[in-house]
Amino acid sequence: MNDTMPAIFFGHGNPMNAITENEYTRGWARIGQTIPRPKTILCVSAHWYLPATLVTAMPNPRTIHDFGGFPRELFAFQYPAPGSPELAERVRDLLAPVAVGSDVRWGLDHGAWSVLCHVFPDADVPVVQLSIDETRASEFHYELAEKLQPLRDEGVLICGSGNIVHNLHAYAWGKTDIPPIDWAVNFENLVRESAASGNHEPLVNYESLGRDAKMSAPTPDHYLPLLYVLAQQRENETVAFPIEGFDGGSISMLSIQIG
Ligand code: ZN
Repeated sequence: MNDTMPAIFFGHGNPMNAITENEYTRGWARIGQTIPRPKTILCVSAHWYLPATLVTAMPNPRTIHDFGGFPRELFAFQYPAPGSPELAERVRDLLAPVAVGSDVRWGLDHGAWSVLCHVFPDADVPVVQLSIDETRASEFHYELAEKLQPLRDEGVLICGSGNIVHNLHAYAWGKTDIPPIDWAVNFENLVRESAASGNHEPLVNYESLGRDAKMSAPTPDHYLPLLYVLAQQRENETVAFPIEGFDGGSISMLSIQIG
């Protein structure tokens, strides 16, 4: 396997996508059918956001149902992909001297499995998660992610799972198809243009971009996984947006594929 793997940011949206078929989940499935088959997956999920950098190191990560108020069917859902202690070790080596803890308690959260269950429905590609250290600034995350670049030549699919625009206060519950709010469209467009041109600096310093950014990324958790994917972009590498759309006016479902 000599293919360089792409790096992909997924807008995951509602956890119910795991057990639903819609334009987003069909798009995720299409990605799984079109990219080279990865040896392993390294996933940075918005939902593993805590004051440390950790990597899951267990051979069989559990499926974590990290949400409330959803149907029983979703709580029963399992995504039994194996882990990869070898990849966890490789990640720790690459990220040194940053101390990365070996975690054996987390598993796969819904940021990872609600998408991966469509991309790789057979759950036969090992998955490792890397946490987002909430005490660190955005530059730290981008620079840390740059150290992961060699993995793409080792058969590792690096994916980020969050949402470029994620504002639940403005979210129109139950109205998935209403038009997106102006600041949401503006910010998503800025991200598209900057990603397409390889100009990452404004996206790393997104907190200085004013109202559109503040409203779109009111907390860093769903935005930061994007930086882990952008940091994989090599010179003159193509950027594609294989899935697009807004849910409830204030959740961007945009996916960004590098390479
Ligand atoms: Zn989420």
